[in-house]
Amino acid sequence: MTAIEQSIEERIDRLQTGGIIDMHFDLPMDLYEKRQRRDVLETEFLPEFEAGNVSVVGAAIYIEDRYLPQNGLRVALDQIARLYAETAASERFAICKSYREVQEARETGKIAFLITMEGIEPLGTDLNQLRVFYELGVRAIGLTHARTNAAGHGGVFAASGSPAEGLTPFGREVVRECEALGVIIDLAHINPAGFKEILSITTKQPIVSHTNVRRYYDIERNISDEQIRMIGERRGVIGVNSILVSPRAEESTLDHYVDHIEHVTKLIGIDSVGIGFDFFEFIYRQWPESRQKELAAKFTTPHFIPDLTNHSHARNLTHRLIERGFGDADIEKILRGNWLRIFKELL
Ligand SMILES: [Zn+2]
Repeated sequence: MTAIEQSIEERIDRLQTGGIIDMHFDLPMDLYEKRQRRDVLETEFLPEFEAGNVSVVGAAIYIEDRYLPQNGLRVALDQIARLYAETAASERFAICKSYREVQEARETGKIAFLITMEGIEPLGTDLNQLRVFYELGVRAIGLTHARTNAAGHGGVFAASGSPAEGLTPFGREVVRECEALGVIIDLAHINPAGFKEILSITTKQPIVSHTNVRRYYDIERNISDEQIRMIGERRGVIGVNSILVSPRAEESTLDHYVDHIEHVTKLIGIDSVGIGFDFFEFIYRQWPESRQKELAAKFTTPHFIPDLTNHSHARNLTHRLIERGFGDADIEKILRGNWLRIFKELL
């Protein structure tokens, strides 16, 4: 190793030591599917979290179509149950419900989980359930995934095509109740009309936990320049997603991931961009080919970034941010500082 390489490695170490915050990971779903096994967190996830210096993970409750409508609530509760059981079985993790608890986890060397919900299907149409999930620790909610539900419509995986209307009356109630309880509103996936409507009926900082910019991948599921500016005006944070950086496999690279970060930064500044990796390759590769084809038909074929497919690769991102000329203070904001600000202000 040359002296220059040595000093870059030391700089990466220094930047990583403060921790990496990833605001979107489909962990509870995987723990639920592996519910017959024990210590899945410690054996399958901890090594990668440690290699990537991951400090906080947004653990997303998500209900697949095959469980709906009958089993949405049950599977959501089971996903949370598995997350609690696996966390209790290890010294290395903590489920956190506040900024203070996140800090405490950090001080005791534990990896913090913030439970999030991607799509309100588990609530059915019963606002009371929202209180229950809040008590269980859910601290961020995105109203929809790609499909339509009782709250509203998801953005489609095409440049246009979702319904022109925004939220349903129930969707508006959920948003208001989230703000009243102290649940962060996550604008990932919601259709353009719903996006606007949510911002018109809320006052707090919004987040987009995992998305990409439409400038580089023009689908409704991603976020337009106008939407990016709306988040910036409200001092929100946008987490950059690793699986929709380009419609083309050959452009799905770590450099292009950084292009998405740069684009957001250029529009609204360095204080509004973070990470929402949405690592999914490990689930995708467990699926039979028939299911992978189903995903492609329903949404799109995901193009995974070869050197950014799991949390152990977070170091590669830090390396590339350095190579692209980001300063230390800015890199720290991207890796954790901006999300920490949101937790401090809202949780
Ligand atoms: Zn998603």
